[in-house]
Amino acid sequence: MNDCLFCKIVRGEIPCQKVYEDDRVLAFLDINPINPGHTLIVPKEHFQDMSSASGEALRDLVSVSPKIAKAIVEAFGYKGYIFSTNNGGVAGQEIMHLHFHIIPRGKDDGHKNFARGGYTEGQMQTVAEKIINNI
Ligand code: 5GP
Ligand code: ZN
Repeated sequence: MNDCLFCKIVRGEIPCQKVYEDDRVLAFLDINPINPGHTLIVPKEHFQDMSSASGEALRDLVSVSPKIAKAIVEAFGYKGYIFSTNNGGVAGQEIMHLHFHIIPRGKDDGHKNFARGGYTEGQMQTVAEKIINNI
């Protein structure tokens, strides 16, 4: 048995407010929501993050996410939602068990989106080439 918090939730050793469950996926309310209804969708099998997850686990998560998101948005009259996953501590990942966030958003809910930058002349191509050569 591992010590991972979300594995403990999956095993029922720590309670959660469940909103969806099937053989391979569990979804429950985030304990510190950005907005009420903020939900975490996790594979029952432990993977640290998206890069180490199996394709099957990712497909399972993605395939149930839209219906859960739609249910959250429609239940409370939200206007949209953010679908995200933090990978690595520097990106804000605190729990090292892969999870997707469904963060419902209202029009004037007081939350800001990321600030955006730009590229200098030619930089976009260089950046893309670096990525392509590394895939
Ligand atoms: P991360 O920062 O790793 O992307 O997201 C982890 C999320 O898990 C956070 O939004 C945090 O509020 C939530 N969380 C942490 N501990 C618990 C817990 O014990 N129960 C529930 N339901 N959510 C938790
Ligand atoms: Zn785990």
